[in-house]
Amino acid sequence: MPRRIVVATSNPHKLQELTSMLARARFPEVRQLEIVSVAALPEYGKPPEIEETEITFVGNAVLKAAGIAQWLRTVGAPRDELVLADDSGLCVDAFDGKPGVYSARFAGPNANDERNNAKLVAELTARGLESSPAEYVCVLAIRQVGTRPFDFTLPDAGAIFMRENCLCIEGRCRGNVRVAARGDGGFGYDPHFWIDGDTRTFAELSRGEKSQRSHRGAAGRRLVQELPLILQ
Ligand code: IMP
Repeated sequence: MPRRIVVATSNPHKLQELTSMLARARFPEVRQLEIVSVAALPEYGKPPEIEETEITFVGNAVLKAAGIAQWLRTVGAPRDELVLADDSGLCVDAFDGKPGVYSARFAGPNANDERNNAKLVAELTARGLESSPAEYVCVLAIRQVGTRPFDFTLPDAGAIFMRENCLCIEGRCRGNVRVAARGDGGFGYDPHFWIDGDTRTFAELSRGEKSQRSHRGAAGRRLVQELPLILQ
């Protein structure tokens, strides 16, 4: 049986971006991994909703990985199965880094991509701005279902570090958010996130280009490099 990574997300876009990165890995042992969403494990029933109560991307990524690992232990999943969580968001310079970890909920409790984007435009407009520099941030956290830490240690080195049994990897990507929107690819704030001197948005990139340029792509490529160490 191939080793499995359970991805602690029900967001199909995040799942697709992470799955295609692993599928393109140079190492056969990484390509052979089975990647499955936590929402698609009928044998174990409905996964718990993990409330994102932390105030950092790292905190929430570790929280999601730990919550899903705990649930998988109680339903009898193999202890060496892997759990991968992604916490990500948009940090806008003109809003002092907001919405940050609250990106999915920027427009309030009934937020969705459309309402969040409307809120982004309203906040820029309220400041008399047409655009602001901004940064997408993604933290990936990977751990085993069991409580045993990985057998290796890594020196904390900026974008890659250990936290509470998780290997954490951070990826970032800078651009401009603008009132103007274009494109229908990607998800979330992508139609308003402009790159390359404001000539195109993330929503206009092919999936492969977005992976090359994005915060999740940066973190995912580093994860692919480290996976052989985790799988040994
Ligand atoms: P999370 O599910 O709590 O990590 O929230 C992620 C939120 O950040 C998403 O709902 C989007 O609003 C935003 N976000 C994260 N990554 C991206 C991306 O690649 N494109 C567009 N929006 C993103």
